[in-house]
This record gives sequence, C-alpha cells and structure tokens, in this order.
Amino acid sequence: MRPDFPTRISFDEAAGIIDRVAASRRLSSERIPLQRGLGRVLAEDLVAPIALPNFDNSAMDGFAVRGLPMPDGGWQLVGEQFAGADRGLALAPGQGSRITTGASLPAGAEAIVIKENARLDGDRLTTDRAPSANDHIRRAGEDVQPGTQLLSAGDVLTPARLGLAAALGLAELAVARRPTVAVFTTGDELKPPGQALAPGEIHDSNRALLQTLLLAEGLEPVAWPILPDEPARITAMLEDAAFSFDLVITCGGVSAGEKDHLPALLQARGETHFWKVRMKPGMPLLFGRLGEARLLGLPGNPVSVLATFLTLGRRLIDGLQGRKEPRTHWRARLAQPVHKRHDRREFMRGRLQVDAGGQLHVVPDAATGSHRLAAAAGNDVLLVLPEGAGEFDAGTVVDCLPCAAGRG
Ligand code: AMP
Ligand code: MG
Repeated sequence: MRPDFPTRISFDEAAGIIDRVAASRRLSSERIPLQRGLGRVLAEDLVAPIALPNFDNSAMDGFAVRGLPMPDGGWQLVGEQFAGADRGLALAPGQGSRITTGASLPAGAEAIVIKENARLDGDRLTTDRAPSANDHIRRAGEDVQPGTQLLSAGDVLTPARLGLAAALGLAELAVARRPTVAVFTTGDELKPPGQALAPGEIHDSNRALLQTLLLAEGLEPVAWPILPDEPARITAMLEDAAFSFDLVITCGGVSAGEKDHLPALLQARGETHFWKVRMKPGMPLLFGRLGEARLLGLPGNPVSVLATFLTLGRRLIDGLQGRKEPRTHWRARLAQPVHKRHDRREFMRGRLQVDAGGQLHVVPDAATGSHRLAAAAGNDVLLVLPEGAGEFDAGTVVDCLPCAAGRG
C-alpha cells in the first residue's frame, strides 16, 4: 500500500513542506525589554522616531570656533559647553568656546579645534593646525533621518541593532514568541552519562547535543526522561508533551527497525507531513503533527541529529518565528577531491582554512559515518555536496554551514 504522506522526498521538497507548515503555524508576538532581545526575531518594522544624532554636536574634546581661517591673534574664548544640558551658547565671528565630545554645538560654530592641537594664552586660542569647516562636527541626522525604516519584521536582533533601538529611545520591541520545545531521546540501550554501562548499553549523547543546539538558538528546551522502545509508553509521554509544547523533538526510533515505533505512532495518533528525506546523513527524518504540537523525529545517530537539526530543524524554528534573515553560510573550495557514491544531498563534516590570498578552502573529513561524533567535534562546518553521484574535484566551490556554535 502506498503511504498517504510524502516519503523519500528531496531535501528541497522537505524544506518546502517545513516552510509551509511553519507559515501556517506562526507564533504570536510579544513585547520585550531590549535587554532580553538578543537573537530574537523582530515582529514589527522599526521606523526611526527621531534623528540620530538628534542635535549637532562635537566629535572631540576641544574648542568650537567661529571664523575660518583662524583670525589674526586667534579666537577669543567666551564660555564652555559640556556634554549634558545645552546652555544655549552662541558664538560671534572670531569667538570660540571650550567643548567636550557629545556636547551640543554652540550656534554659529564652524569647526572643532581638538584639544591636542590647541594653544591657550589667557582667553586667546590659537593652533598650528588650522581646521577646515565642519571638522569634528557630527551633524544632526547624519546617521539616521527620522521616519527612515531601519529594520523589518523578520530581522534578527543583534547587539548593534538593540543598541540602535535604545539610541532611538525605544525601551521595548515586539518580537515573535519563541517556540517551547520538549526534547526526548529514545532507546533501550541508552544510559545517561555518569552512569555505568551494562554490556550492550551506550551513553545518551544526543541529549547533550540536541539540548545545546537548541540553547545556541536561544530556546529553553525541556528534556524528558529517556524513552524506552515501548510503543505504549512512547505514545503516552509524547502525547503528554504535545499538550503543552509547540514543538516536540525526538531522536532515534524513526527508521525501519523492529523497535522504530515513531512513524507508526505519528500515523495512528497524529499526522505525518513527511517521512524520509533524500539526504545524508539523516535520511529517516520524520515530521508531523501530534495534537497541536509539531513533532520532529530526528534519526538516532548523533551526526544525523547535528545535520538534520542544523538544516531542517532550525528552518522550522526560524519559520515559526517568521525569521526572514538567512542563516550564515560560506562558499569554499574543496581542498581534496570527493567521490560521492549516492545521489542524496550530502552534509559532510569539514574544516575551513583560509589561504594567504584570502580564499576559503574546506578539508572534507574522511570519517563520514553518522555515528562518528569525534569527527563532527573536530570540524567546524557541514559542507554541502549537491544531489547526484560522481566526482567532486579539488577546487570545486561548495556551500559550508557553520556547525560549531559557541566556538566563534
Ligand atoms: P535508532 O534510529 O533508534 O535505531 O538509532 C540509530 C543509532 O543511533 C543506534 O546506533 C543508536 O544506538 C544510536 N542512538 C540513538 N539514540 C541515541 C542517543 N540518544 N545517543 C547516542 N546514540 C544514540
Ligand atoms: Mg533506537
């Protein structure tokens, strides 16, 4: 019988389904103080309510002067204006006043003589370095004109963007709510690190991997106990989580083994958006709905978790928040040839190098098995080999996705 959901689909088809589902499940927005904004996705356009700078001011400590070139005998000093309250100072031709960086420019001032170049003799100011008009003056609006749209809904908030919002006087911004995420690892062979292993058991590495991948995205994943390979228990626990989380992410139990229960569970109790994507690693990836939650069933092998999360998992999280800003990726030349024997899109581990001429190269790691976590830990990118089998010569330009969040 043919399944009634897309299966063995291409990476691009999977991405398209994720985009459509995410767009139909967009999370609401909330207003947050700027200090909580890092990495959040803006839910409104940001239009400048004021100019920046908001008044003409000095870029240096020194003296504001009127009268260029310097009058014979220099300028006559007539007061001072420090950063802070504007004293309403006005300069007549031939006059100057002491000023500090960020202080409002006295009316009529034409240039700033910086302190290091100034000579004072009583109330006379002279300099050997005659300034030109506008030297060291910051004009109102030269950075931002009021009414300019500076950021758009879907942009991601960085420290500089949050600083900009503060400069504009905004104390809060509307951002997309972040998805709540429950994380499950599955498998009778799993023991938490710190516990002794009986024969046949392994430590649960995906929990640490997946939780920190989510933390790196600014999410606050909630981890549940390791699930045994027992359908009734898996069903009860996942349905429980699906009640209270936007997203349930599992790993393991999605391929074709006797103990891989998740695909049948999702089909019986929820809805399957797709199962199996022609990618390597990560082929058995499962995506669907359980209750009101989206369920992303990642394969069990740790490198598959890394590759499927960074590509399609993160795409789902981005889509739910309406993120429009693309993820960073680089283009680099293969440092060695790669022979590709299958026609799936491949995400190989690789290490970036930059040569003296500024050209990026990527060294593919020969350890390609999806259980080879040490190979993933020793590299910094997933290099993308497109669909189709064949030779990729050294020098071929490939996409590279950073996969070592937290290191840079
Ligand atoms: P599965 O898809 O459940 O058959 O798992 C595929 C492979 O990944 C098996 O070798 C599992 O032992 C391994 N695996 C599954 N879950 C984890 C985990 N949480 N940590 C480490 N390895 C895992
Ligand atoms: Mg398993």
